[in-house]
Amino acid sequence: MELMNDMKIVLEDVLRGKRSVALGGHIRPDGDCVGSALGLYMYLKEQHPELETDIYLEEVPEAYGLIECTDEVKSRIPGDKKYDLFICLDCGDLGRLGFSSPLFESAEETLCIDHHVSNAAFADVNYIVPDASSTSELVFTLLDVSRISKRVAEALYMGIAHDTGVFQYSCTSPRTMEIAAELMRKGIDGSNIIDKTYYEKTYIQNQILGRALLESMLILDKRCIVSVIRKRSMEFFHAKPSDLEGIVSQLRLTKGVEVAMFLHETETHKFKVSLRSKGKVDVSRIAQYFGGGGHARAAGVTMQGSSHDVINNITEQIELQLNREAGEEK
Ligand code: 5GP
Ligand code: MN
Repeated sequence: MELMNDMKIVLEDVLRGKRSVALGGHIRPDGDCVGSALGLYMYLKEQHPELETDIYLEEVPEAYGLIECTDEVKSRIPGDKKYDLFICLDCGDLGRLGFSSPLFESAEETLCIDHHVSNAAFADVNYIVPDASSTSELVFTLLDVSRISKRVAEALYMGIAHDTGVFQYSCTSPRTMEIAAELMRKGIDGSNIIDKTYYEKTYIQNQILGRALLESMLILDKRCIVSVIRKRSMEFFHAKPSDLEGIVSQLRLTKGVEVAMFLHETETHKFKVSLRSKGKVDVSRIAQYFGGGGHARAAGVTMQGSSHDVINNITEQIELQLNREAGEEK
């Protein structure tokens, strides 16, 4: 990650004169969203006790309960509350902020900390570095390292580990590893965090993963793998949407495959689509084309229509990119 110091904001400058701060992240919060938001929340609580700081996120997946202060996360907004500052984390656009967006709208000032290429810098102050592995990595760079406590380090480490696929995806830079090392020096149990929040699956999660793998199909000359989980399967397994996390990554591991596409039917004729790429296809472009967003190798979008239509429409875009790439190679 290139640290652009002239672009980098100084957290203390943004906080100057503020009395109340709200933190929020994207809908269906993942490890990086929860880690970055809770890490910054606990840091503010510890270093700025004079501030009234609140954190707003949709239901935090149970596995992340290992991180301290998850019980302080608010999932509803108070009726008439206005904050001096709203900090939006890991959220590429205002629509993805979900239930806390009225607090963003009414805040005196807004700050966005994010690493999505699709982020259109929608806040008053924006700290967006698409090359960064994770929002948690960006939060780290805003803090005074000597003041980072063990519990803040645990939250940020979880975020970085999740968005790098445990330090494996190409977004993992030497700087990412240096930051992880700094966090380890705070005395955290990194392997336990990774095990409990990333790899460990409930029986239900494994069952639904098994179903998705069993019913997956190879298309585009075996260069794309697709799987769909329907509402009725979710009901059958008593699964929550967060139980589906990790399925698309597992699909992506299939040998020979360039792109993995996973559809989750949230309502009749409505699908939450997750896309993952091994590098040849920029899936953020495809997601953005259909109104979603994300990163080059991991992106998502919600689409209407039959599963057949959704798969066909996305496949067309994948094929265009694969053909273009094949043309360039000649
Ligand atoms: P996932 O497939 O895990 O839900 O998301 C992969 C990446 O794409 C994440 O960085 C996530 O923030 C982004 N993403 C997923 N769905 C959407 C969407 O509907 N809109 C936008 N803008 N980004 C999305
Ligand atoms: Mn992220």
